[in-house]
Amino acid sequence: MTAGERVGACTTFALALRGVVKRYGEIVAVDGLDLTARAGTCLGLLGPNGAGKSTTMRLITGQTLADAGEIEVLGFRVPRESKRARAAMGVVPQLDNLDEELTARQNLAVFARLYRVPRAERSAAVERALDLAQLRKRADTKTDELSGGMRRRLLIARGLVHSPRLVLLDEPTVGLDPQVRQELWALIDALRGEGVTVLMSTHYIEEAERLADEVAVMSGGRVIATGSPEQLRAAHAGRDAVEYYGPPVRLAEIESIALEAGLATRRTGPAVSVLRAELMTEATSARLGRGYRRPSSLEDVFVSLTGEDVE
Ligand code: ADP
Repeated sequence: MTAGERVGACTTFALALRGVVKRYGEIVAVDGLDLTARAGTCLGLLGPNGAGKSTTMRLITGQTLADAGEIEVLGFRVPRESKRARAAMGVVPQLDNLDEELTARQNLAVFARLYRVPRAERSAAVERALDLAQLRKRADTKTDELSGGMRRRLLIARGLVHSPRLVLLDEPTVGLDPQVRQELWALIDALRGEGVTVLMSTHYIEEAERLADEVAVMSGGRVIATGSPEQLRAAHAGRDAVEYYGPPVRLAEIESIALEAGLATRRTGPAVSVLRAELMTEATSARLGRGYRRPSSLEDVFVSLTGEDVE
């Protein structure tokens, strides 16, 4: 990042980390992290468990202090200006810590006050957040009577009540059923539509693929690849993959033929996928036999880069 690209009210980045290191004793949780998010976009932090995603989130909010490096959030230096940075950002935690005793509306009102939304604007801010989370009809329902999906939407709405310009979502749909996940995706997408910058950590490939304008693949505390899902596919998985099915012996044979031909493979459930199939010669194709061609996916990228399987 050059001086001209520094974050700030009128510049490009809502978030910038440079050379950030965080150690816990012997463990290096974040190991020289460089990361930027352009204002108004959704940046997805994608990585397996232990990659350093949550630590990165905590460093950005100032909940934990870096051992080295620079962090700038909406033009504020963290940790020096953490207080001002925190006031300007919205944080949606992974764990549901809503107040069970209160209604949806009351939960939002408490946070509107905490975030110092001016008294005259509080009620409008709460109603706006209720609308965004599509909870107006349940506004007066106590939190412990809301469904899991509604609670999660309320948790997101709570982080938005002060109209932050940057929202941090830590694994927003972890453990939710597919239908609720889809509802939350629509909500997150709507946020970006409003010009809010979103930083989302996830280990769900599909979530990153659907929502993120840019994906930073994290492993071992570092960003090992970054780009739009499209760019990542082109750079790390090529255009097509071909899936081959068969008994284990056959799959092992496919892998060794592909290896000889210099093509990467990965196991995909009961099949072996041969990547960069567009580079396959006719001779190799004939040796491999009949397979099913498909476009390459972000999952191919993730597995190729991290060596980790996906859920
Ligand atoms: P992710 O969110 O990608 O799963 P984390 O940021 O939670 O990864 O963890 C990164 C590494 O740092 C892991 O090895 C984890 O065990 C370690 N770690 C995270 N927080 C702490 C902590 N408070 N104390 C000790 N080790 C930690």
